[in-house]
Amino acid sequence: MSLLQLQEVQAYYGGIQALKGISLHVNEGEIVTLIGCNGAGKSTTLKSICGQVKTKGSILFKNIDISSWQPHQAAMEGIAHVPEGRRIFPKLTVKENLEMGAFSVKDKKVVKERMEQSFAYFPRLRERLNQTGGTMSGGEQQMLAIARALMMKPKMLLLDEPSMGLAPVIVDQIFEIIGEMNRTGMTILLVEQNAYQALQVANRGYVIQTGEIIMEDDAKTLLVNDQVKEAYLAG
Ligand code: ATP
Repeated sequence: MSLLQLQEVQAYYGGIQALKGISLHVNEGEIVTLIGCNGAGKSTTLKSICGQVKTKGSILFKNIDISSWQPHQAAMEGIAHVPEGRRIFPKLTVKENLEMGAFSVKDKKVVKERMEQSFAYFPRLRERLNQTGGTMSGGEQQMLAIARALMMKPKMLLLDEPSMGLAPVIVDQIFEIIGEMNRTGMTILLVEQNAYQALQVANRGYVIQTGEIIMEDDAKTLLVNDQVKEAYLAG
């Protein structure tokens, strides 16, 4: 069953049309990746889903049309967005950042349980509980950003360029954790410029170019597609 379905979604920034009718779906339990060059519309697609930009067309989540929802409604319904550039709270500690992720949960015991669940993926965060977010390394901040999103126990994660600006060994760790979260039941829509690793971890992929989907297939098939190889996997 499709957890998320976009049909002919268009998005504008003033007079600029960033999405020209995007259709895609993500089934429950899948990792789907959206690959494409700078400015293709990947981030805008995620922002459209979580209500950060105005759209035309239909966006269904669990068969409910969420296209006119505000970001907090999408979040409460189980869509967690981890934006590009890991916007954690730099002055707050790791623990406080995680607590902010569960701001709507009143039961402290539940918050603690969720923190423990996050530590299963990110043991490093447990060791750094009282360190301020801004003093963590880039990789640790990315882990914190994902862990914070997990604190609201989402049904779906929208990950925007989680590997951006990180050293290769950290990128490997992040992709490993993405795979692990998926194996334990998380549905993920992953936006990446690192197409090779994204397609390796994903079930299916879409290629987006100047606001349009130009290709979709199983990730394994896209990995060996000549056009994809030339445009996105070279180097
Ligand atoms: P990148 O990998 O560089 O983040 P992207 O595929 O995520 O690229 P988007 O950020 O979705 O691309 O941008 C799509 C288009 O919309 C681009 O032409 C971009 O310049 C434009 N755009 C994005 N945000 C805004 C904004 N706030 N105001 C005006 N134009 C914007």
